[in-house]
Amino acid sequence: MSEIPAVEWPNFGQIPSEELLVGARPKGQALSNYLWWNGEIRSAHAQSVHYYANALHYGTAVFEGIRCYPTERGPALFRLRDHMERLLGSARIYGMDVPYSVDDLCAGALEVARKNGVSNAYLRPLAFFGYGPIDLTPKKECAVNVFIATRELGSFLGEKALRNGIRATVSSWRKFPASCLPTMAKASGHYANSVLAAHEAHDRGYDDAILLNHDGTVSSTSGGNLFFVRGKALFTNDELSSIIPGITRDTILALAAEAGVTVSVRSFTREELLRADEVFMTGTAAEVTPLCEIDGIPLATGRHTLAATLQRAYLATVTGRISEHSSWLSFLRP
Ligand code: PMP
Repeated sequence: MSEIPAVEWPNFGQIPSEELLVGARPKGQALSNYLWWNGEIRSAHAQSVHYYANALHYGTAVFEGIRCYPTERGPALFRLRDHMERLLGSARIYGMDVPYSVDDLCAGALEVARKNGVSNAYLRPLAFFGYGPIDLTPKKECAVNVFIATRELGSFLGEKALRNGIRATVSSWRKFPASCLPTMAKASGHYANSVLAAHEAHDRGYDDAILLNHDGTVSSTSGGNLFFVRGKALFTNDELSSIIPGITRDTILALAAEAGVTVSVRSFTREELLRADEVFMTGTAAEVTPLCEIDGIPLATGRHTLAATLQRAYLATVTGRISEHSSWLSFLRP
């Protein structure tokens, strides 16, 4: 295990112990009973999608993942508006005319979360081109459908992963460049790249894949943004590295800046990851998950690391324990 320098990371004084933060989370991903579907609440069990929906054939859907967390003031959705703005941005790039505003979508998310009585949950808004001809011009003839589904979600990769980290491998699949697909859009078709990389990683006995760009710089993991720590500095890349600029990434950048941690946002190479003191990934589902190994090279994990400190700060923020950030929370019961 590489030794990280004995650095006193800034003291996130208000943050309670990690036991408080990840204590009683659900273990499964049980589906909820209701969906928000094109503006109305429907039974999830009765809902179907046409087998000739354009999205099923050509990947023409855009989506989001939003977390609901328990707080002292009841359940709350984290950075709801930012997610819905990104959804409409992704839809716009694909010529998808979504007949709902950001406000409509935020209200719909709150309504379906309330109806389903969720607390530790994941919301999946998805807009897709529906049934129509077999053409590759769905914007001309296929109806746009939008739904928001909810399901239970605790620690996506397990609590062991949050504490001890995951093992990652560099994929033989490269990340598609922005000259081929709009990398900032969170679109279903794009995830074929992630699925290939994640399958390969699992087949090789690893937990996740790291995708490189064609020029050898690092892009992201199959479903999250990457950060690394070297000495006292924190590093992450940006949209020039074909990443989805994550909302979790943005939250970590804000928390790090508040704590006075020096952050460099620039592209970086595989070698920089392999000689880093710490590497961690961020995402709505994965939250802040350390990497304990990349291709046999060990990385520091544990309570003394910056990743663990930022993870505690993140979990405290999303559960409403840092009052300065309560504007990031949309409470189900105001
Ligand atoms: N990159 C990819 C490829 C992802 O799937 C995700 C998860 N949505 C992210 C980055 C992180 O985005 P966010 O923090 O907004 O969930």
